[in-house]
Amino acid sequence: MNPELLDKWDKEFFWHPFTQMKVYREEENIIFERGEGVYLWDIKGRRYIDAISSLWCNVHGHNHPKLNRAIEEQLRKVAHTTTLGSSNVPAILLAKKLVEITPKGLTKVFYSEDGAEAVEIAIKMAYHYWKNKGVEGKDVFVTLSEAYHGDTIGAVSVGGIELFHGTYRDLLFKTIKLPSPYLYCKREHGELSDTCRDDLLMKLEEVLRSRRDVVAVVLEAGIQAAAGMLPFPRGFLKGVREITKRYDVLLIVDEVATGFGRTGTMFYCEQEGVTPDFMCLGKGLTGGYLPLAATLTTEEVFNAFLGEFGEAKHFYHGHTYTGNNLACSVALANLEVFEEERTLEKLRPKIDLLRERLKEFLDLPHVGDVRQLGFMAGIELVKDKEKGEPFPYGERTGFKVARMCWEKGVFLRPLGDVMVLMMPLVIGEEDMNYVLDTLKWAIGQLR
Ligand SMILES: *Cc1c(COP(=O)(O)O)cnc(C)c1O
Repeated sequence: MNPELLDKWDKEFFWHPFTQMKVYREEENIIFERGEGVYLWDIKGRRYIDAISSLWCNVHGHNHPKLNRAIEEQLRKVAHTTTLGSSNVPAILLAKKLVEITPKGLTKVFYSEDGAEAVEIAIKMAYHYWKNKGVEGKDVFVTLSEAYHGDTIGAVSVGGIELFHGTYRDLLFKTIKLPSPYLYCKREHGELSDTCRDDLLMKLEEVLRSRRDVVAVVLEAGIQAAAGMLPFPRGFLKGVREITKRYDVLLIVDEVATGFGRTGTMFYCEQEGVTPDFMCLGKGLTGGYLPLAATLTTEEVFNAFLGEFGEAKHFYHGHTYTGNNLACSVALANLEVFEEERTLEKLRPKIDLLRERLKEFLDLPHVGDVRQLGFMAGIELVKDKEKGEPFPYGERTGFKVARMCWEKGVFLRPLGDVMVLMMPLVIGEEDMNYVLDTLKWAIGQLR
């Protein structure tokens, strides 16, 4: 295919997500054509290391033989059949497997296609749960400032990023917002300390003690990723679990970004021994191959929806492609690869290497902060390090740095002026070092 023509049609017909199209159309963009392992090639034959795992979802690399085979084999049987009142083989096997590997107590799996839907479903189920239990007046969610749970209206309602969500304020349902733990801790305590954690937990407890209308607490697991990689103080999630239990409020934990090994364990909840009432999964679920998401919940929640047909207690929600056969097949293969390739075991030294090398960035004059949870990292660029003054929004400094990295064969997409590193778990040390060297060089070019 002629590269010039593709570029022309891309700019003429295709409205891209999270993209200022006026600017996009004035620039040269990457049009990807193929991938192999951690590498991607564009239509001009240039090679890039996929240092953001194709927006945080690729796990074992592109074009993985086993994942390819899973899709090919399923494709020869059937691509899609409905799960509304009927079933399919890979969706059943995957549900069983997910229950086995997620925290004890999560026993039911409801599928959808994207992370936002997984959250949307948890929100609706939690709300509906109280109705089915005959508990009246529960209609508000407790959420965190700077939260990101996806872009559908329900997910936006529980989100807290002003730039993305502010426009829609009048369309959103009621929430009570607690501060973003990272920003609060830095501001009030100077660091992510246990005192800060307890201080925040006390705030949550005050809310839950004084109100009877709270449906659920919704939060990301261990780190607010889209906000610019803002980690929680250790034990915060566990504390939230204890308090929600004490006040009989449901807990929705969004592991869409953190799930499938990103934080060093299969799920972040494991690290704090937490079983939420709802766990939302997406992104890495299919190893980055096909859109699939899942909302896991407990026997207690599931049972509240049981009744005779005429009682109309069931969950009136589903999508055309819910539990898609191809997506479930590749998700199953993705989980098998974790075992066969001992992915998490091999990841441990890479997390240590990342931690060591990130220290070098703190010395750069335009790096204001470096944050890491497991294999997820954010490097925050600032104009003035002493004053902590950011670069003006319109200057797109983060994007400029990313573009310099593209030129050197490293594909990055920042969050504003936070350079995000979310490499495929399978990446080798040499490629990791190349990514870090390149990013360090590019940031060093800033004046
Ligand atoms: C990406 C993300 C979502 C939304 O997932 P989509 O598949 O993009 O809809 C939700 N929650 C978190 C924590 C995410 O990182």
